[in-house]
Amino acid sequence: MNIQSMTRAEIAAVLGEMGQPVFRAGQVFSWLQKGVRCYEQMTNLPQSLREELSRRYPLYRPEAVRRQESRKDGTIKYLWRLADGNCVETVLMRYHYGNTVCISSEVGCRMGCAFCASTLGGLVRPLEPYEMLDQVLFTQLDAGLPVSHVVLMGIGEPLDNLENVLRFLELVNSPEGMNLSMRHISLSTCGLVPRIDALAEKKLQLTLSVSLHAPNDAIRDTLMPVNRAYPMDALLAACRRYYGATSRRISFEYAMIDGVNDSEENARELIARMKGLPAHFNLIPLNHVEESPLKPSTRSAVARFQSVLEAGGIPTTVRRTLGSDIDASCGQLRRKYNRAHPIPDGGAAP
Ligand code: SAH
Repeated sequence: MNIQSMTRAEIAAVLGEMGQPVFRAGQVFSWLQKGVRCYEQMTNLPQSLREELSRRYPLYRPEAVRRQESRKDGTIKYLWRLADGNCVETVLMRYHYGNTVCISSEVGCRMGCAFCASTLGGLVRPLEPYEMLDQVLFTQLDAGLPVSHVVLMGIGEPLDNLENVLRFLELVNSPEGMNLSMRHISLSTCGLVPRIDALAEKKLQLTLSVSLHAPNDAIRDTLMPVNRAYPMDALLAACRRYYGATSRRISFEYAMIDGVNDSEENARELIARMKGLPAHFNLIPLNHVEESPLKPSTRSAVARFQSVLEAGGIPTTVRRTLGSDIDASCGQLRRKYNRAHPIPDGGAAP
C-alpha cells in the first residue's frame, strides 16, 4: 500500500520492521497529513531514514492542471492530475459556516445517471484513499484557505469505492492530521442499498445524502439505472434502517428537471413516500449538460415544488448554484480537458 494511505498504526508497523523506534510513526504520519510530499522536508527525521523511505515508499502529489475561480461567488475549481495521468475534479465553495471542499471518489463513474457528465465515459478506476485526502490537502494549500467541511459529491459513486472511502474518512478525521469532524463531512450516494447498510453498521456521525431525483420508480428508472437494481421502496427502507442505526437525519438531493419530475403532483407523491422518515430535501435546478436533452426547471416550478414539500412537513432548501460560470459541477471540467488532451495509452476516459 502507498504510505500516504496508511494509518499511523500501519506506518508504525512498517517503521518497526525497519528497526525504527515507535515515536517516528507519529512524526511521519503527521508530516504526510500536512501534505508534505518530499522526505527531505521531514526535518525531524534522520537523513538515513529519509533516504530509505524515499527508496521504499516514493511519494506522489497531484498537480493542478487547471484552476478556475468564479468571479461571481469565489468558488474555485481544480482539475488535479494524478500519478498515473488520470484527472479528477475538486471544488472549493465558500459558505458562511466555512470553506467546503467537494471531492471526487473515482476516476469516472459506472452508475450511468442520465443527467450527469461524470458518467459519460464510464468508470476508469476507483481512487486510492490518499488521492481523496490529497484533494482536500492540496486544495487547502493552494487556495490558502482553511477547509472545515468536506462533501463526497464530486466525480464517482463513493459507496462503489466504500473500503477506500472509509479509510479516507479515518485519515481526514485523525487528530494528528486534518482532524475534521465527521459531522462536517457529507457522503452522497445514488442508492446502492447493500452499501448503505454496510455504512450504517459503522455508525459514523457524517451526513448521508441520497440522490433521489424522482417520486416514483417510473420516473427514477428513466433517470438512474441503479433504480432497476434497487427500486425506491428498497432504497427508502434502507434509509429507514440507516436512520434507525445512526439517528442521523438523511439529506435527499433532488435535481429539478423541466417537465420530468417537477410538477405539484410529483411533490405530493414524494410526501406520501417519505412518511415517517426524518428527512431534509435539497432542490437543485438541473445543471445543463451539453450531451443531454434534459433541461432545468423554471424558477417558479422550483418554488412551487418547495412550497408543496414544506406544506407537507418536509424541510426543503433550494440550493444556490455556485460556480456556474466555471463548469463547477459534475465532471464537466474533466470532460472538456480530456477531450482536448487525450491520454494516448487509454489512461483516461473520453
Ligand atoms: N454518485 C454520488 C455522488 C456524486 S454526484 C451520487 O449520485 O449522489 C453529486 C450530486 O450531483 C448527486 O446528487 C447527483 O445526482 C447530482 N448531479 C449530477 N449531475 C447533475 C446535474 N447535471 N445537475 C444537477 N445535479 C446533478
